[in-house]
Amino acid sequence: MISKVLIANRGEIALRIIAACRQAGLATVAVHSEADRDSLHVRMADEKVCIGPAYAAASYLNVTAVIAAAEITGADAIHPGYGFLAENAHFAEIVQECGLTWIGPPPEAIRAMGNKANARRTVTERGVPVLPGSSEPLGSRDEAVTLAEQIGFPVILKASAGGGGKGMRVARDARELRHVFETARHEAEKAFGVGDVYLEKYLTAPRHIEVQVMADAGGRVVALGERECSIQRRHQKLIEEAPSTVVDAELREKMCEAAIAAAAAVGYVSAGTVEFLYNDGEFYFMEMNTRIQVEHPVTEAVTGVDLLKEQLRVADGHALSIRKRPKMVGHAIEFRINAEDPVTFAPSPGEITELAFPLGPGVRVDTHIYRGYVVPPYYDSLLAKLIVHGRDRQEAIARARGALGMFLIGGVRTSIPLHLRIIDDADFEAGRLSTQFMDRYGNRE
Ligand code: ADP
Repeated sequence: MISKVLIANRGEIALRIIAACRQAGLATVAVHSEADRDSLHVRMADEKVCIGPAYAAASYLNVTAVIAAAEITGADAIHPGYGFLAENAHFAEIVQECGLTWIGPPPEAIRAMGNKANARRTVTERGVPVLPGSSEPLGSRDEAVTLAEQIGFPVILKASAGGGGKGMRVARDARELRHVFETARHEAEKAFGVGDVYLEKYLTAPRHIEVQVMADAGGRVVALGERECSIQRRHQKLIEEAPSTVVDAELREKMCEAAIAAAAAVGYVSAGTVEFLYNDGEFYFMEMNTRIQVEHPVTEAVTGVDLLKEQLRVADGHALSIRKRPKMVGHAIEFRINAEDPVTFAPSPGEITELAFPLGPGVRVDTHIYRGYVVPPYYDSLLAKLIVHGRDRQEAIARARGALGMFLIGGVRTSIPLHLRIIDDADFEAGRLSTQFMDRYGNRE
C-alpha cells in the first residue's frame, strides 16, 4: 500500500500530483533544486528535500539524489510527472529495485516505446498503421537515399531515441537527404547520447491527433478518446483540444482500437498516449509517450475521469475504475501559457509582479505561479495551462475568449496575446487545423 509519494518534478505538474495525493489521503514529499526553493510545490508538500543546484542535470535529473531523498523521508512511491526522469527506464528500474512503487508504466514498456524505430516495428506487428519508412536505424547515407527513393520524397529523419521535437530533419530530395543525414545523426548523438536515426515519409500538412490510454496490471486497457494537438510551434504543442473536429465515431473507434493494440503490445500499465498523424481520412502511428502528458486535462474535462487518481490507483495494484471508453461530453481546449515573447517565442524569465486568474463555469487553471514568484531561466517556460470546457466547441472558444482576456500576468511576457489572436483566426474557428497552422504566426523550424 502506498502511503507517501515523492514527486520527482517541479512546476504545475508537481502541484497537480500533490493535489491528487491529498485527495487520496497520501502524504507527499517535494524535491527541488536550489533555484526552486520558493516554489509552490515545495510549500504545498508535507516534506521537502533540496536535491542540488539549479542545473537540471545536477538536481531533477540526478537519480542518486532523488532516490536518497525518498530514503531519507521514508517515501514509498515516486511519481515522475512528465519530462525529466519520466521516460527513463533505467530510473524506473532503480526505483523498483529500491523497493519503491513506480507510479508509471513497467520499465520494459518504457524501453520498448522509447526506441522509436523499435516501437514502429512492434506496433506494425499488431496491425497498427505506420507511415512508410525504415524499421531499423539507418546504417549509412546511401541506405537512407535508397529507401527514400523507394517510398518517395519528402521524408523526415528522426532520432530513434528522440523526443521534444529534437533531432528531426526534413529532406525534399536525395541531395538534401545526403546533406542533412550527418547533421541529424550528430544532433541525435548530442541530445540523446545515441546517434541512431530512422526515416519515414513526411506529410506536408497533417494533423497531430493522439489517443489517451489508461491500463491496469490486470491487463485492462481503456482508451479515453482523442486529443487534437496540431497547433504547434517548433514541433511543440501550444493548443490542444478534445474531441478533434475531424474525428467521427467510426474513426474514433479505429484510432482507439489501434491505441489499445499498441499499448497491449508492450504490456502497458498506467497512463500513456499513442500519437498519430492524420491525413486525408487515414492515420499513422508516430510514437507512444509513456507518461502523463501536459495536455491530459482536456481529456479529464470531456470524460470526467481524473487521470492522476487512476494512476495512483493502478500503481497501488487496484483495477481501473473505468471499464470501457467513457463518452466525451462537450468540448475542451487547453492553452499553454508560456513565459515567452508572443512574436519571437524567446523565453522571458523574471518576476511575476501582477497576477489575476480567470474565473467562471468551465474554466480551469493548472499552474504553480503566484505574485512575486520569480520565473527561473533554467527550466521550460510553461507558466500555466488554461483549460476551458463548453457544451460545444463554440462555447469552449467563447469561454476561452473571456478567460484569456481576464488572465493578467505582469512582469514577464506571455503567450496570452498570441492565443487571443489564434482564437480569432477564421481557420481556427472553423477547425481547419494542421501542424503547419502556426507558420502564419512566424513559426520557424
Ligand atoms: P517528438 O517525440 O520529438 O515530439 P514526434 O515524433 O512526436 O517527435 O513528432 C513531433 C511533431 O513533428 C509532430 O507532431 C508533427 O508535427 C511533426 N512530424 C513528425 N513526423 C512527421 C511526419 N512523418 N510528417 C510530418 N510531420 C511530422
